[in-house]
Amino acid sequence: MKRLGALLASLLLAGSLTACGGTAAQEMQSIQVFAMDTVMGLRACGGETEAALAAAEDEIYRLDEALSRTREDSAVSRLNSAAGGTPVDVGEELRDLIARALDFSAATDGAFDITLAPVSSAWGFTEDTYRVPEDAELALLLPCVGAEHVHLEEGTAVSLDQGTRIDLGAIAKGYASDWMAAIYQEHGITHGIVDLGGNTWVCGGNLEGEPWQIGIQDPARSAGALAGILEASDAFAVTSGGYQRYYTAPDGTVYQHILDPKTGYPVESDLLSVSILCDNGTMADAYSTALYVMGSAGAQAFWRTHGGFEMILITTAGQVLYTPGLSEKITPTEGSGYEYASILP
Ligand code: AMP
Ligand code: MG
Repeated sequence: MKRLGALLASLLLAGSLTACGGTAAQEMQSIQVFAMDTVMGLRACGGETEAALAAAEDEIYRLDEALSRTREDSAVSRLNSAAGGTPVDVGEELRDLIARALDFSAATDGAFDITLAPVSSAWGFTEDTYRVPEDAELALLLPCVGAEHVHLEEGTAVSLDQGTRIDLGAIAKGYASDWMAAIYQEHGITHGIVDLGGNTWVCGGNLEGEPWQIGIQDPARSAGALAGILEASDAFAVTSGGYQRYYTAPDGTVYQHILDPKTGYPVESDLLSVSILCDNGTMADAYSTALYVMGSAGAQAFWRTHGGFEMILITTAGQVLYTPGLSEKITPTEGSGYEYASILP
């Protein structure tokens, strides 16, 4: 089992951490937070920096509690425990997030699916108790998987069919990053970077007035080795990939954490990673997971049909494919061995 923390390494240019804000020079301030099973790094400069970082930290802890399915007292756990029974009032925030998750399922033709929770547990990915379930066990669980088993009820209530469980792990960090952006804006932060572990939000540009540089992890190499660098300002960047979390069985077979909702097995993707860049963190997080499930051709077809985001696909065939909007923003890593090419519109 291997878990890599920050997958989009946030590369801060040397010298950019000194001052900002013209005459009223200020230091870039930073904090580290451990939440959602991840080490998170936040930096901010300009505006009410200390208050922004304190509010951001509180917010991350609040969301970690609210959205967790392993904490017994969370609204998600209450909903899961009540599956097959009466609807549960989960509150407006969670109901809205579940509604968005169901929309992402519909938009991605089921590739994104929050009801994979029991299947993920069967593989031990949630509880860190890895095993390979029998086909028969998965066959019993699969009938309870699917967006149709989640019902938005009156007001802020939600109900689940008997046997269905939800897990918001594939959008929780992206959703949290949307909150980070709102908090930074509220406190007048002008420059900053929020790295929630594979989910990055860059606020403004760097202190030299240039875009931030975001490292794209080379999925085939050790943590910190990059397949390229992406320039971005005021954007959300999220990466998903099997390499981020996987289990190697005693016979050497590798089972990775992103599951195919149709089979209950780890996705057999021709992708090593998908990075999405757009102006919404929740959407970027949902799409990075879903497009990984779709594979290279499916992801490209999805982008052509839906648009509204940029992406980088790293394929098992050794290609780094990027949408044309990134052609001026991506810097390939020399000597990486990858072939870099723009995706056809
Ligand atoms: P991410 O790292 O955002 O791609 O989310 C992956 C996590 O979401 C996994 O560790 C599972 O907990 C869960 N998951 C696995 N497969 C799917 C899927 N097809 N749709 C939604 N969530 C999934
Ligand atoms: Mg995701």
